[in-house]
Amino acid sequence: MSTTASAKNGTWRNWGGNVAARPARQVTPASIEELAAAVRRAAEDGLKVKAVGTGHSFTSIAATDGVLIRPQLLTGIRNIDRKAMTVTVEAGTPLKRLNAALAREGLSLTNMGDIMEQTVSGATSTGTHGTGRESGSIAAQIKALELVTADGSVLACSEKENPEVFAAARTGLGALGIVTAITFAVEPLFLLTAREEPMPFERVLAEFDQLWAENEHFEFYWFPHTGSTNTKRNNRSAGPEQPVGQLAGWFEDEFLSNGVFQVAQWAGRAVPATIPAIARVSSKALSARTYTDIPYKVFTSPRRVRFVEMEYAVPRAALVETLRELKAMVERSGLRISFPVEVRTAPADDITLSTASGRDSAYIAVHMFRGTPYQAYFTAAERIFTAHEGRPHWGKVHTRGAEYFAEAYPRFGEFTALRDRLDPERLFQNDYLRRVLGA
Ligand SMILES: Cc1cc2nc3c(=O)[nH]c(=O)nc-3n(C[C@H](O)[C@H](O)[C@H](O)COP(=O)(O)OP(=O)(O)OC[C@H]3O[C@@H](n4cnc5c(N)ncnc54)[C@H](O)[C@@H]3O)c2cc1C
Repeated sequence: MSTTASAKNGTWRNWGGNVAARPARQVTPASIEELAAAVRRAAEDGLKVKAVGTGHSFTSIAATDGVLIRPQLLTGIRNIDRKAMTVTVEAGTPLKRLNAALAREGLSLTNMGDIMEQTVSGATSTGTHGTGRESGSIAAQIKALELVTADGSVLACSEKENPEVFAAARTGLGALGIVTAITFAVEPLFLLTAREEPMPFERVLAEFDQLWAENEHFEFYWFPHTGSTNTKRNNRSAGPEQPVGQLAGWFEDEFLSNGVFQVAQWAGRAVPATIPAIARVSSKALSARTYTDIPYKVFTSPRRVRFVEMEYAVPRAALVETLRELKAMVERSGLRISFPVEVRTAPADDITLSTASGRDSAYIAVHMFRGTPYQAYFTAAERIFTAHEGRPHWGKVHTRGAEYFAEAYPRFGEFTALRDRLDPERLFQNDYLRRVLGA
């Protein structure tokens, strides 16, 4: 398995390059028994334990100076149950491997995020999501889950078995134990037609409720310093399959979205004053297109330009006002923002600390090119998001702590009580969890 998180000279780094850690030791267990033994040994040695996925989180949620558990040998499909329409996978399986294996079997997940490099356990542990009117995050598609807890025992949970663990562990932040296997709901492979279309910012905001209501998956990118967006509508289709042509795909997805975009980012970083002009050109570069393909090929695309990101979920009803404030802030501030702002939605779910827990949500994500100072932009954006009762993505930059989350999540106490029960000695603690959950 390829992992983008590097571990040169014993130093672990995340994909965004903004988090580094020096674990005391790293282990790559090949079985649950080996994993449980590593957990017990760490406890005996007085070391903390943290499982890592592919290091795609921008927060220090996966960082540890204790024992780092690597996922590479805990991968693969355990079982496909066609009657129950579920698939059970080892926790370290990368999403791209799961998607390809399911497609070969004529099956698919219902919804996905933008990329599929992450492991299934890493993605669900932070609440990774795409966009959807009825369908929620990847964790919301979990039917059952198995984890090794702090005493080294294996705990299974589902709606029926240990339901209080199931409610929390689907997006468990790595705080409740080491996930070893996940069972997802699947459905017969289907086709999605994607319609990508530039649209003025004002029109998207004026018609947002309608665009959301009329499409199974609606999202858009706003280009700061412009009044332009690029919208994407994905809806189920009877076919026929009409994939993006190889040449057109290469031109739009590789050349424009990665190659030229990378050069534009370098230019903007070197001479920030050019960014508004570059943004105006970038916002016009992508043209309208329609294509029909299997779900993961429509939902996901390669992201090669490295960046740092903050994303907040606000109540869906607050989206338009929040975005207007964000745009006004950028215009007032003198900041130069070279990366588009991404907007997506999710229906309310029943996962204790999911960003969409109990609330219909809209996500607003702000990005900065790697190596460009992002603090001023993110601080100003965060002030706007938190004023709208925003909940930050657990894997993306934010500055909130336990006090804030106790207000933002009505079931926060339920999660911390379960953590007290499953991990009283805080074997799975790190600095990030101390900040967001309390000691
Ligand atoms: C280019 C890019 C695109 C992205 N696109 C999206 C997107 O579209 N939507 C979205 O919501 N997010 C997105 N993200 C964020 C990303 O999906 C999350 O940060 C995700 O958690 C990363 O998964 P990972 O496998 O890299 O896990 P890591 O970042 O390595 O770990 C994340 C957390 O999972 C825990 N964990 C990992 N494995 C286990 C295990 N076996 N048991 C218990 N805990 C475990 C870790 O301890 C840590 O707490 C994106 C990030 C990048 C860099």
